[in-house]
Amino acid sequence: MCELKTEENVLIVKYGEIAVRGNNRKFFIERLLRTIRKNLDDIGDYYVVKEQGRLIVEDRGGEMDFDKVIPRVICIMGIIGVSPGVRVKNQELDNLKKVCAEHMRTIGVDEYKTFKIETKRSNKSYPLESREVSASVGEYILDEFPSLTVDVHNPDLTVYIELRNDAYVYSKLIKGLGGLPVGSSGKGIVMLSGGIDSPVSAYMMAKRGVEVEGVYFNSPPYTSERAKQKVVDLAERLTYFTGSFKLYVVPFTDLQLYLLENVPHDKLTIFLKRAMTRVACILGERDGALAVITGDSVGQVASQTMQGLHAISAAATMPILRPLAGFDKQEIVDIARQIGTFDISVRPYEDCCTIFVAKHPETKPKTSVIEKIESRLTELDRYINEAVENAEIIEL
Ligand code: ATP
Ligand code: MG
Repeated sequence: MCELKTEENVLIVKYGEIAVRGNNRKFFIERLLRTIRKNLDDIGDYYVVKEQGRLIVEDRGGEMDFDKVIPRVICIMGIIGVSPGVRVKNQELDNLKKVCAEHMRTIGVDEYKTFKIETKRSNKSYPLESREVSASVGEYILDEFPSLTVDVHNPDLTVYIELRNDAYVYSKLIKGLGGLPVGSSGKGIVMLSGGIDSPVSAYMMAKRGVEVEGVYFNSPPYTSERAKQKVVDLAERLTYFTGSFKLYVVPFTDLQLYLLENVPHDKLTIFLKRAMTRVACILGERDGALAVITGDSVGQVASQTMQGLHAISAAATMPILRPLAGFDKQEIVDIARQIGTFDISVRPYEDCCTIFVAKHPETKPKTSVIEKIESRLTELDRYINEAVENAEIIEL
């Protein structure tokens, strides 16, 4: 009789059951599945399948390279953790024993003194009870690894056997970021500059399940093609967490020059930010977004004083979420490094506001004064509409 290989290394992916409960459950699981596939697309021939409350990553090309695969999966929002393990087609007890022993040899047991086997049986037609499987496999392991003893309460090592359509054997859970699956909390539009802060703020909201799209205000020829590319690269990086990202690139030069000529220079940044906010609200509203997201952090620069934020927020027609409002720069930098946006953000290309910025910007603008000046800007609406209509859309 020819012997079929019934075991295969797989990555077992656990997602937050509570987070994907309800009507949209199927939609979120599909989306997680697609995001995992996308993230693994360029590193091998990986395939993802559903299996009763889990997603399973298998390697169609050969041996699973866990070191490459795991970082690409644990960063996806809504994933609790992953376990490198073995899928077992032949679920007979003798085979499960051998697979467990082999798994323990692979991971190495030298550092452990005690262990337990924990079996979960969701396949109710399996002829043995969970505890019978655990006891029987446990005995076999004791014989195979004389240095180990059983401790069912506080073991150094727990080996899990899950009896599902196939059986799965694994021992480690590598924690994911958790969070909520992207899309489970509605949509927001992030004002994405090429800086350090705004990509982090996009990430923070995505972590809470917000589907994030972005808008970048581009000011050629004052800003270069490379400055735009930096923002596109940041958006691309964010898709690791979110699956996809729609980016608007809004031509901002004419609007900016108009404001430069028509408002007091020390207040220019406030007017620019108000105009950006209005454009973001219009684009977001069209797509069903419920909030604008920015990378503002209170007190960081002149326009980010409480007064500045008040004057900018007054131009918005939807709530502005500022997830970094209370963060220090170093805290933001730490997250940017963690999520891999820092190195892109620090590429030295100019941003549209630094070119137009005043030497001594107003730090305590009065909203009423700003609004009064703005009401005299008869061409402003036209420039805003033009900026909206000429926005380029990049789907990542
Ligand atoms: P960042 O690091 O995100 O660029 P920053 O510390 O440089 O922020 P500002 O330049 O005052 O701060 O911008 C505050 C916020 O305004 C940014 O976090 C971003 O959300 C938005 N913003 C600024 N410039 C742009 C731009 N050119 N396109 C889109 N959004 C922008
Ligand atoms: Mg900036």
